[in-house]
Amino acid sequence: MSEQTGGATGTTTSPGATRATSSGSTSTASTGSTGSTASKRTSRTAASADRTAARKTSKTAASKTPASKTTARKTTKTAASKSAASGAAPAPAPAAAAAKPAESHAALVRRARRINRELAEAYPYAHPELDFDSPFQLLIATVLSAQTTDLRVNQTTPALFARYPAPEDMAAADPEAMEAILRPTGFFRAKTKSVIGLSAALRDRFGGEVPGRLEDLVTLPGVGRKTANVVLGNAFGVPGLTVDTHFGRLVRRFGWTTAQDPEKVESDVAELFPKSDWTMLSHRLIFHGRRICHSRKPACGACPIAPLCPSYGEGETDPAKAEKLLKYEKAGAPGQRLKPPADFPGPAAKPLEAS
Ligand code: SF4
Repeated sequence: MSEQTGGATGTTTSPGATRATSSGSTSTASTGSTGSTASKRTSRTAASADRTAARKTSKTAASKTPASKTTARKTTKTAASKSAASGAAPAPAPAAAAAKPAESHAALVRRARRINRELAEAYPYAHPELDFDSPFQLLIATVLSAQTTDLRVNQTTPALFARYPAPEDMAAADPEAMEAILRPTGFFRAKTKSVIGLSAALRDRFGGEVPGRLEDLVTLPGVGRKTANVVLGNAFGVPGLTVDTHFGRLVRRFGWTTAQDPEKVESDVAELFPKSDWTMLSHRLIFHGRRICHSRKPACGACPIAPLCPSYGEGETDPAKAEKLLKYEKAGAPGQRLKPPADFPGPAAKPLEAS
């Protein structure tokens, strides 16, 4: 994930900029990269750059650099329809990444926190996408979410928890009966073994209760830091960073870390934010990764944090094409939860038997 910023479509007249300002955020589309090269770009200079870029005849440059009048017009038009249709902010135009000086740590912190604020505006309803009613249910659902979608887990767990409501029930389960329930989540034999072993450990070592401390949670079979932080952050209110595949990919694209190791990623990102931000930051990053900043083809042209992202251009930059890459509620489609929170702007997902 490389460096860039603010640009042609990132003018203060873009819907994204207006939205940021009206919300009280200090971050706008055109000034979003404070502390970086983009921070030096004012609306006036950006407009000048726009005109210069628009005169360039290179087809490649025109398609890659949203600092062209054509792209600016496209972005404004698309942004208006997108805001109405999906609530997503438009993709303002980042500037070129070339010859960018190294970003100081202070500037990195400022940019990281701006990204978090922009994501909070883009996903005010961000939340854990696993359905659960207790720490035990969240723990089991998180373990089951390996190698499958949260939606598939949500479609499977109602039957699982109805049959085995407590750790004692699950620990004593007949493996074949449980395998039949867990089959839709994939790797169902291994997952059956895992949740039975995990439930037995809860029963035998923690009195049938899920412990509320990281150091205890990670002693449970099949529970690593990621799962432990999910449970702590969402069932116990203890701040935690959930370094899953989306989190890791996005923070590397943002230039917050270059690490691949999840623990190093976690510690690098932890340095940029107060603890109180950790849990919601995790949700926002995961929401953004699932909806816009996809692994193979990020929808850069429809991304509300494009001016702050050094990796702008890694994906589709054409606003109209990028909009077609959006997923879930950003595309007017159902989310992953059967029981989404009241403020979720999309429809609920369907139960397994109805899907
Ligand atoms: S979609 Fe991802 S890579 Fe593209 S600008 Fe947005 S955050 Fe950056």
